[in-house]
Amino acid sequence: MHRRLLGTTEIDVSVLGLGSSPFRAGQPEDWVHLLEAAVDRGITYFDTARTYVNGEDAVGHAPQSVKEALVVATKTGARGGTRCVEDLRMSLHHLRRSYIDVWMTHMVRDMREYDLCLELGGFCDIAHAAKQAGIIRATGASFHAPTDVIKRAILDRAFDVVMFQVNLVGRETVIGSSVAEYVSQLLPAATTHRVGVVAMKILAGGELKHGAPVLTRRLGLPSPADIIPASIRYAARLPGLSCAVVGFSNVAELDQAVAAVAEIAPDGDLAEAMARGVRAANSGECTRCGACLDVCPEDINVPKVFRLYDQFRHLGIHGVARHKYALLDIDARACTGCQECQRVCPEDFDIAALLTEAHRTLAAPNEDTRPI
Ligand code: SF4
Ligand code: SF4
Repeated sequence: MHRRLLGTTEIDVSVLGLGSSPFRAGQPEDWVHLLEAAVDRGITYFDTARTYVNGEDAVGHAPQSVKEALVVATKTGARGGTRCVEDLRMSLHHLRRSYIDVWMTHMVRDMREYDLCLELGGFCDIAHAAKQAGIIRATGASFHAPTDVIKRAILDRAFDVVMFQVNLVGRETVIGSSVAEYVSQLLPAATTHRVGVVAMKILAGGELKHGAPVLTRRLGLPSPADIIPASIRYAARLPGLSCAVVGFSNVAELDQAVAAVAEIAPDGDLAEAMARGVRAANSGECTRCGACLDVCPEDINVPKVFRLYDQFRHLGIHGVARHKYALLDIDARACTGCQECQRVCPEDFDIAALLTEAHRTLAAPNEDTRPI
């Protein structure tokens, strides 16, 4: 298993990390065998959080040899104060370890939350003190935030490690930002400023797991079954990224991923071909800038509808896109054609017409997989 350093920390991690979101099923003891299998295959990075069911406790139940082999990253949802300190205490208790390798604040969403981390008595102060005391080895933050927020954290070197999503699907992560931007702006910035990067949502929250036949063709893969290894390889190859975290439900899935990253020596042509495939697949009229979000009198989430439509027609993610469309409180049928959105949209296309087309496709029965 390839290993990389996490920024300026002296923590050496496997390029493939084990995520604990599937651990919510069953009991903590049920997952010890997966931790053992991961360590056995050279995976060292284990990602969890105070709020993830069974994640910390699974480490707590693991044999000492596994506990010592793992680089454990866990997270507090707090941005500072006593809850932060209490979470740190509880994490150590549940992990049954005297230290945490990477302690993060979880899911920073905007500049206000980032600034809270930097305040007196905020997460950064507490984490710094814990590091001085030898309770944690590195500080970190996971983000679901606009590119400029994460970039600011990197330029400020506020954390030793940052975590954000990287995958083949995400044209946008939060409205107004995109995975493409994350890759093109954040990874070089992190390299320059020597901040460790851990990537999450490699399989786009399970969307790639459910198959993306069109993307498979664009990437020149033999079958949709190859999309998962290709997605993992894509992330693991990216320069500037230390570790790609993936959640596995069983040892077979783990082995598939381990095989996927066995050959990730720099391969410019293949990496560029995949990047081209992703760029081509991530096409569509709406760039998800978000400008129209507050102007629609019918409260239609226009970029969200177009995201699902693009997933359907450009990525071949049919069932999931239709399922998520059916869950919208207000769908594209509510459009009256008032043109308010058109007045603010920087792109040149007919929004109401595309909404009608999107609705016809996304509301069709699932057995019909053609865009209508
Ligand atoms: S044209 Fe449709 S989507 Fe656009 S603002 Fe009017 S009702 Fe909303
Ligand atoms: S429809 Fe236009 S304004 Fe609305 S999010 Fe897309 S690109 Fe932006």
